[in-house]
Amino acid sequence: MAEALDALVVGSGPNGLTAAAFLARAGLSVRVLEANADFGGGLRTRALTLPGFRHDLCSAVHTMGCLSPAFRLLDLERHGLSWIYPPLSLAHPLEAGEAVVLDPSIAVTAAQLGVDERAYRELVTPFVRSPQKLFADLLAPLGVPRQPFTLARFGWLGLRSARALAFGRFRAEPARALLAGCAAHGVQPLEHALTAAFGLTFLIAGHVKAWPVARGGSSAIASALLAVCRRWGVEFVAGERVKSLAQLPPAQAVLFDLAPRQLAEIAGDALPRAYTRSLRRYRMGPGCFKLDWALDGPIPWRNAEVARASTVHVGGSFAELARAEAAVWRGEHPEQPFVLVTQQSHFDATRAPRGQHTGYAYCHVPAGSSVDMTLAVERQIERFAPGFRDRILSRHRLFPADLEAHNASHLGGAVTGGVADLGQLFTRPTLRLDPYSTPNPQLFLCSQSTPPGGGVHGMCGFYAARSVLRRCFGRHLTLPW
Ligand SMILES: Cc1cc2nc3c(=O)[nH]c(=O)nc-3n(C[C@H](O)[C@H](O)[C@H](O)COP(=O)(O)OP(=O)(O)OC[C@H]3O[C@@H](n4cnc5c(N)ncnc54)[C@H](O)[C@@H]3O)c2cc1C
Repeated sequence: MAEALDALVVGSGPNGLTAAAFLARAGLSVRVLEANADFGGGLRTRALTLPGFRHDLCSAVHTMGCLSPAFRLLDLERHGLSWIYPPLSLAHPLEAGEAVVLDPSIAVTAAQLGVDERAYRELVTPFVRSPQKLFADLLAPLGVPRQPFTLARFGWLGLRSARALAFGRFRAEPARALLAGCAAHGVQPLEHALTAAFGLTFLIAGHVKAWPVARGGSSAIASALLAVCRRWGVEFVAGERVKSLAQLPPAQAVLFDLAPRQLAEIAGDALPRAYTRSLRRYRMGPGCFKLDWALDGPIPWRNAEVARASTVHVGGSFAELARAEAAVWRGEHPEQPFVLVTQQSHFDATRAPRGQHTGYAYCHVPAGSSVDMTLAVERQIERFAPGFRDRILSRHRLFPADLEAHNASHLGGAVTGGVADLGQLFTRPTLRLDPYSTPNPQLFLCSQSTPPGGGVHGMCGFYAARSVLRRCFGRHLTLPW
């Protein structure tokens, strides 16, 4: 009979790979099972349009990845990862050729905000004094913070809605719109409590390091994680879709880098009924509709500054963004959606043939939507970049069902592993002191549906590995700062 593994990881997204790396580094025998033919989950880069154009299938810009304590500990840059930092993290075009940008310098960003210059400086400055510790606190489950006073201040501001923060602190459109676009990454109406926290997190991050892309595509992050894992002896099996526990080889601990509902289905009777009921009740939230383009030149933004940013928030004013996100939440398709555009090829020549460019955009839509948003998305970009459509050589669409077909964890096309509201951000997937553990001492969850939630940072995997090491092997894993 084959010897039992110490740990088995089901799913090879950034959290699964991070968990595998830390467990193997601690001396455990680890195997990763992945349903797809390739590894990386949300970190895959493909030729979706024409030869020579390389597109990020899901994750594109790594605001949290470059600040992740786990990635730093794994020294991904020594394993082939190269971040490319753009001059600007973000640009947000406004009417009449105006645009507001997120520059690494607080002073430069504040200076364009007119009457809100001082309010902006006062809002973000206290958070960038010790960013390493702040992001170690933000990218963690509830616990004792490293910086209790800074985190209390962050919580006091972040617990409110983006609308309350924008209208309480700022008097003019540029600052309000800048905050709105960042808050809309939370995929909720901007009137919801806690949406201010998303806005603040993204703004602060942009003043620590400009939101980077990975040289060669997001798959380069997966390649670096795979290299670390292989160095510590992790085994990999591709093309293995796990449907039940009976399929798994013997292992002391099994970590699922999956959505809570998938865990409920796979584990069946191995978990108490009350717990699986709560996993099934977990809310995934809206989905997303994505477009990738091969372009015959850069997007012709009316305001030239916009081309200097890795990310562009397209949708106009605070009110317009708020309307769009509220419509999606009600199950409607906004005529003027909030569109997240990224322009990796502006900074990374490996993405497109010389002189040509890739374009990447998505908008939020109701879960599982089959409505084609191509026209609505392209019209929004055209509004701020006249002539954009003339540059399209080829386009590729991804509906929520396609996203789910590429990655079974993206139920309904959800972007960030489930609604991140007060009821689910800290207590995902359900209320438990150790949210990575389950009532079955062998089974663990390590996906973005655990704290600290969505995004490519690997911290869910790190804390799940910590839980496994403590509970199954009596070992400790801590961050050195
Ligand atoms: C369109 C889109 C854009 C995004 N953009 C960004 C961005 O710019 N920046 C950012 O930081 N984040 C972004 N994200 C979010 C980011 O991709 C996720 O937060 C991240 O990938 C979550 O990592 P994970 O390890 O928890 O799970 P995933 O990356 O979802 O990995 C799960 C893995 O499990 C595998 N799997 C599923 N079911 C099974 C099964 N039954 N058996 C075996 N294997 C299985 C899947 O194939 C997949 O490889 C985006 C997401 C989407 C969808």
